[in-house]
Amino acid sequence: MKRSETVKHAPFLCPCCRSALFIRTSREETPCFRSIWYQCSNLVCGATFNGNQTISQQISPSGLDRPLMQLPMAPAMERAKALQALRPKTDQLDLLDTMETSV
Ligand SMILES: [Zn+2]
Repeated sequence: MKRSETVKHAPFLCPCCRSALFIRTSREETPCFRSIWYQCSNLVCGATFNGNQTISQQISPSGLDRPLMQLPMAPAMERAKALQALRPKTDQLDLLDTMETSV
């Protein structure tokens, strides 16, 4: 496997130079918490960082009869934002969006 296939781009930019960060490695600490190590893609900068990723709330329930874990449900406003973000992007106006902005 080529190196380029194993490197993952992180959703973060380097705080030092604003170049893309790569995820060098990560470790599952718990089912809802990962430790992550990042490296700047700018060879001149080369800064490294660590952080974490947390799953904190549930947007929708699992379809399983007995899920291994159930998290607290996000407030209704957060669920609405998440569902809107997951919608396919089109140029067409959504009737519900129109109704929400007119209220
Ligand atoms: Zn950098």
